[in-house]
Amino acid sequence: MRLAGKRAFITAAGQGIGRAIAEAYAREGADVTATDLNADLLQGLLGTSFALDVTDKPALTRAVEAAAPDILVNCAGFVHAGALLDATDDDFDFAMTLNVRSQFHTMQAALPGMINRGGGSIVNIASIAGSIVAAPNRCIYGASKAAVIGLTKSVALDYVTKGIRVNCICPGTVDSPSLHDRLRAMGDYEAALQAFNARQPMGRIGTPQEIAHLAVYLGSDEAAFTTGQAHVIDGGWATG
Ligand code: NAD
Repeated sequence: MRLAGKRAFITAAGQGIGRAIAEAYAREGADVTATDLNADLLQGLLGTSFALDVTDKPALTRAVEAAAPDILVNCAGFVHAGALLDATDDDFDFAMTLNVRSQFHTMQAALPGMINRGGGSIVNIASIAGSIVAAPNRCIYGASKAAVIGLTKSVALDYVTKGIRVNCICPGTVDSPSLHDRLRAMGDYEAALQAFNARQPMGRIGTPQEIAHLAVYLGSDEAAFTTGQAHVIDGGWATG
């Protein structure tokens, strides 16, 4: 088992990529603490699970410190749809708070314990949308995910000598409940699905489980020589 003996703390583990990671981590022997804004979605997961809003800094700090994770997975994120002239200050602040600031806070809560115990692995979920490719109507989302990549690299560099590894995963389009909500919101669901499939040269969207395989690797000691990287997993989208 690739994660035996490791404690893992995961945000937004109720559905989609976060849930697949929680399931994969448990299968690989990790002691998983799975959290989500919506506690109902956490049913059926192994390990400890409870409701946590990652924008609530005091609750988040208490929860991360109590879990004392060896692996921290920051999965919470929201996709704002719209171009610059459709976007408001509130949209911008909400995305930055949920997608970036939450990771800033969980890492601040997890790092001291990881350093004291001699090491740890942090896996932040970013996206290829932002600084790797531009996606239509994703200006706020892209800015937030580019910030995740910058935060990841900087924290990795600053704590590399303390045994801490910090990487981020940059998925292309992945099958998840919120993806289907976004497709429905575009009007013609079938046409939107076809267009989203076509963005990947592989001609399909990815599965949450495919992202979870990479998250298992990055959390495990197999990835001991990898830090500060934006790991792209996108069916070939970013090859151009
Ligand atoms: P999703 O969007 O379907 O589910 C998101 C989960 O986050 C839900 O369970 C929700 O309850 C939870 N959540 C929302 N607000 C929260 C909060 N304040 N605190 C805690 N939890 C909260 O899942 P997904 O599409 O797999 O997305 C997961 C992550 O992957 C996000 O960061 C997203 O930006 C990123 N991502 C997704 C895709 C994709 O195509 N699905 C692609 C690239 C990156």
